[in-house]
Amino acid sequence: MTKQSLTVIIPCYNEEILIDKTYLRVKAVFNTLKDIDASIIFINDGSSDKTADKLNNIASQDVTVKLIHFSRNFGHQAAVTAGINNTESDIAIIIDADLQDPPELFNDMIALYNASNCNAIYCVRKTRKGETFFKKITAKYFYKLMDRLSEVPIPLDTGDFRLIDNKIINEFKNLGEKNKFVRGLISWIGFVQIPFYYERDERLAGETKYPFKKMIRFALNGILYFSKKPLKLAIQLGLISTFIAMALLFYILYGYFFSGQTVTGWASTLTIVVFFGGIQLLTIGLVAQYIANIFDEVKGRPDYIIANKVNF
Ligand code: UDP
Ligand code: MG
Repeated sequence: MTKQSLTVIIPCYNEEILIDKTYLRVKAVFNTLKDIDASIIFINDGSSDKTADKLNNIASQDVTVKLIHFSRNFGHQAAVTAGINNTESDIAIIIDADLQDPPELFNDMIALYNASNCNAIYCVRKTRKGETFFKKITAKYFYKLMDRLSEVPIPLDTGDFRLIDNKIINEFKNLGEKNKFVRGLISWIGFVQIPFYYERDERLAGETKYPFKKMIRFALNGILYFSKKPLKLAIQLGLISTFIAMALLFYILYGYFFSGQTVTGWASTLTIVVFFGGIQLLTIGLVAQYIANIFDEVKGRPDYIIANKVNF
């Protein structure tokens, strides 16, 4: 019987202070895995610090460590996508470089995978330690909103930390769309996917690589690529404002014919004009976002550009 093969996919962006620790900790977990042929793919997402040197150093001493260096920073989701696209093993686990998701769980995840007849295990956070109140709140409402809006169920409180098997990996490789929202797509692929509950730790060191702007872009991508519901918002807002306009018309006519008051106010007129102007801009902006996404797709540029690969 051949050994089960495992690839651990780790995206890294400016993680020089913790990359060595991360490597050692994952390696220590590998030593406890029985009958598994384990390797790591680090994706260096255009880091501007010493991450590249540190990774090259690790890979020169350990042939089970593969590296993909991007030509510039393409973002976390592109890095994970590159990792999956370059995986040939039976199973893969996606994990962040900051080890907020403990690699010590690999054993339990693989055991659960082997014991149950499933194709993916998505890890659900029970708690989040050491994250700001703001991050927790925004994350919570993001997941709630996604769940409301999305046309495929995206489990609450899951990140990209998950185990996927080659059936899912192969389907993922065939997906044609750009700007991949990895966790949504994996959920969309289907087959049998089961949850695994765990406690999320603090970042090992360094600071979050998801500043507010990136967070917003990530959330927008998730929503705009996974839901057509916001487009219905335009119709709903249009209906609401039509009703308001009709009510106003009745009110004015009533005033004119029965109470003898004629309308003198220009303030009310102006309010109405501004109100409808606002709604129109809002909905046009929304539709424009979808057009921008179509624009991106039509250009057909790749998700990322690889500068070089090591140990492949
Ligand atoms: N990351 C990346 N490219 C980026 C931003 C982040 O590859 O442009 C990596 C980062 O190195 C880490 C993972 O994505 O391994 C998650 O980032 P981070 O821990 O900063 O996000 P948070 O946990 O704060 O949401
Ligand atoms: Mg993190």
